[in-house]
Amino acid sequence: DNQLFKAAMPVMAQIESHGYEAYFVGGCVRDSLLGLPIHDIDITSSAQPQEIEAIFKHTIDVGKEHGTIIVMWDQVPYEVTTFRIEGKYSDHRRPDSVAFVRNLQEDTLRRDFTVNALALDRQGQVYDFHDGLKDLKAERIRAVGNAEARFQEDGLRMMRALRFASQLGFSIEETTLRAIQKLAPTLKYISMERIRIEFSKFLLGSYLHTALPYFLDSNLSEYLLLPQGKVDSAIAELSDLLEETRNQFFANEESFVWMLFLQKLGLDQAKMKKLLRKWTFSNKFIDQVLAFDTLMHFETELFWSSQTAYAYNLNLLEPVQAYRLFRGEKTSKDIVEIKASLPMQDRQDMLVDGKDVMAALELKQGGPLIGQILAIIEAKILHGELSNEQEAIISFVKENWQGGGE
Ligand code: ATP
Ligand code: MG
Repeated sequence: DNQLFKAAMPVMAQIESHGYEAYFVGGCVRDSLLGLPIHDIDITSSAQPQEIEAIFKHTIDVGKEHGTIIVMWDQVPYEVTTFRIEGKYSDHRRPDSVAFVRNLQEDTLRRDFTVNALALDRQGQVYDFHDGLKDLKAERIRAVGNAEARFQEDGLRMMRALRFASQLGFSIEETTLRAIQKLAPTLKYISMERIRIEFSKFLLGSYLHTALPYFLDSNLSEYLLLPQGKVDSAIAELSDLLEETRNQFFANEESFVWMLFLQKLGLDQAKMKKLLRKWTFSNKFIDQVLAFDTLMHFETELFWSSQTAYAYNLNLLEPVQAYRLFRGEKTSKDIVEIKASLPMQDRQDMLVDGKDVMAALELKQGGPLIGQILAIIEAKILHGELSNEQEAIISFVKENWQGGGE
């Protein structure tokens, strides 16, 4: 009855009409059985990637040799994974080899947790080879098969266990948790990028509070490239804070949550930057975290000023405003209104640029003067002393600088 499932039906039907099996699998099955919203559809099939390619007009190779291909249907990408079993894992990360198989049950053996190993066919029948439904009902994360062996194979699964506990509010089953405690050092074989993705989801999960004791028990924090000795208390403080602010939108904003976390770790901006780099965050993300940190430190008067409203984008201002109000800071001002009432919302709104200034003054070369003139124009517009219109600005420039400067 979900729109996303409905939209995927033709893809399933096409695969089946060519004599192959196809099932929904993974997060979409788990979440829909829990009555949670789903965000993407994963399909698993007996068809091999070349066979999928032969069936559909638009496919994208994202790892055919491992059995993964994307089918584009109505401009929606569907990840179709061939039933497979995995060979030995000698690097604790990736299987040395994969082999395609023709039955669903074998495929489920390689999946991480029982609630992630459920499959669903087009008729709505659920396939459950590992008591996933029982664990779903008991709200429990349990490894498929032997937990230690599964974490030996791929250490990332330990982070994933914590991530799902935090997203779903599930417990982590005893044996699974003990295996994590024992194999936590295996995390060192995993790339920072894969860890980051799971750890961020862990921090942002709606049930971080529930998952926290498992994290503290897991020994994983030792292997996370975070300042030792402070991690556990920082996450505990963050968890308390986020629990209090759960319904506030900033609690779901990845860069804002990271800023809070790094503040709890007691880092200054130079150290924040270094850590975020190590964690393979993009420069854009890092800039956001640092800007949030800066805005958090502004005094009340400075924060709710037109100067600040002009200098920062709303996507930075709004979360900080919400946070400061939540913290009980007193003001009757609204940063969105302050910004809206400015003659320009930001520098890009200025209707004249360096080239226009040069043209007005018939200069062939730029130079520091141009920048100075632009800064003056900007200030005049912001103070309401010059209107932000091309003609007005150009005549202002000519009046003041024609004839080669001051
Ligand atoms: P989400 O809702 O966040 O997408 P998901 O369960 O779909 O959660 P994905 O990372 O999209 O998680 O993976 C899809 C499925 O592939 C999982 O449900 C699981 O069955 C399997 N899987 C993913 N990563 C691993 C792994 N490291 N080891 C074993 N199985 C995995
Ligand atoms: Mg998924």
